[in-house]
Amino acid sequence: MPIVNRIAEFEAELIEWRHQLHKFPELGFEEHQTAEFIAEKLNQLGLEVNRGLAGTGVVATLTVGSGNGPKIGLRADMDALPILERSEFEHASKKPGVMHACGHDGHTTMLLGAAKYLAETKNFDGTVQFIFQPAEEGKGGGEKMIADGLFELFPVDEVYGMHNIPGIKVGEFAVCPGPIMAARDNFEVFVKGRGSHAAMPHQGVDPVVVGSHIVLALQTITSRNMDPQKSLVVSVTQFHAGEAFNIIPDEIILRGTCRVLDPQIQETLPERLGRIVDGVASTFGAKAELVYHKGYPATVNSQQASEFCAEVAKEIAGSNEAVDLKPAPSMGAEDFSYMLQKKPGCYIWTGNGDTAGLHHPEYDFNDETIAVGASYWARLVEKRLPKSP
Ligand SMILES: [Zn+2]
Ligand SMILES: [Zn+2]
Repeated sequence: MPIVNRIAEFEAELIEWRHQLHKFPELGFEEHQTAEFIAEKLNQLGLEVNRGLAGTGVVATLTVGSGNGPKIGLRADMDALPILERSEFEHASKKPGVMHACGHDGHTTMLLGAAKYLAETKNFDGTVQFIFQPAEEGKGGGEKMIADGLFELFPVDEVYGMHNIPGIKVGEFAVCPGPIMAARDNFEVFVKGRGSHAAMPHQGVDPVVVGSHIVLALQTITSRNMDPQKSLVVSVTQFHAGEAFNIIPDEIILRGTCRVLDPQIQETLPERLGRIVDGVASTFGAKAELVYHKGYPATVNSQQASEFCAEVAKEIAGSNEAVDLKPAPSMGAEDFSYMLQKKPGCYIWTGNGDTAGLHHPEYDFNDETIAVGASYWARLVEKRLPKSP
C-alpha cells in the first residue's frame, strides 16, 4: 500500500508514542498528561501551540507560504473510557479501570505523525490547524471547544476527522457523503400512578402497567411513523420500578435513547414521544412527564469534501476497491458532528483490521494503521492546499 515513504521511515517512533499514550489513558476533560505529551511533541516540531480550549484541548497551527492560502482543520480525539483493559501486552493500561478502548491514542498519534511530516516537508501552501479535542466519549469536548471560540481563534474553511473501525482491513477506508454517524438523544419518563396492595390493584393506578404500555407504544414511532427508507432507533434501556412482591409502587422511571440520521426527523422526536407518554398515561388515569435531552447531532459529511477525501483515501490505499464509498452509516454518535455543523468537511473511517470491537476490554488500536492514517492526513493537506507551481 503506497503510504508516504517519509512517514514509513519514522513509523517505529510513532508506534512508541502510541504505546506511551495507551499506557496512560485519561478520561474526558482529564487529559492533562496526554495534552502535555501532545504539546511537547508539537513544540519540538516548531509549531505554534495553544492550550486550554475546553480545558485540556490542544491546537497547533502550521502556516506555509504567504499565509493568505486556504485554511483547514484536522481533528483527533484524546480521551479514554472507564473500562478495565483485559490485555497482557507490554503497553496495556497502567491505570486499572481506564483504557483507550476506542483508539483515540491511535487517532492522536496519526495526527502527530502528520504534523511531524508536514512541519518537516512543508510541501503545501496554506494553513493547517491540528485540533486535539478532549472528551469525545459522551461529554461533548468538541462542542465545548467550539463554544470556547475554536473557529474564531483558529479559523478554518474546512474541517476533517477520522476514526478507526474494527472489521475494515488495515489500509482500507470507508466514506460517504451525507450522514455517516447518527444523532444521539436521551430521554427519561416519570410515570406517577397511585400505589396499592398488590392483591387490590383496583384501589390504585398501577404505574408498572402504564410504563409497560409506554414502552410498547414507543416502538411504533420507528415502525409506524417513520418512512421505512429512513433510520431511527428508539430504545428503552432502563425501567425502574418497585421494591416488593406485594406492593404496587407509586411511580416508575423509564430511560432510553434515540438514534437518528436525519436532523429533520430528530426535530420531531420530543413532540412524538411526548404525545405517546401523555396519551398512554391519561388512558390509565396516571400522570407522566417526558424529559428529553438533546445530545450529539448527526455527523453529516458534505458532498464535495467526501468526494475529495475518497480520492485521497484511494491514493493511500492504492486501489479503488479498498475504499468503500457506500458504507452503511453507523447508528453510533460522534461529537465531531458539532464541527461539521459549523464548517464543511468530512469524517472518514479507516480500517483497524480483525480486532476486538470498539469499547471492548480486549480492543487495541492497530499499530499498522498509524502510518496509513498519518499518510492520509499528509496527502489530504498536500492535495487540498497545493503549492502554486
Ligand atoms: Zn468510542
Ligand atoms: Zn471513538
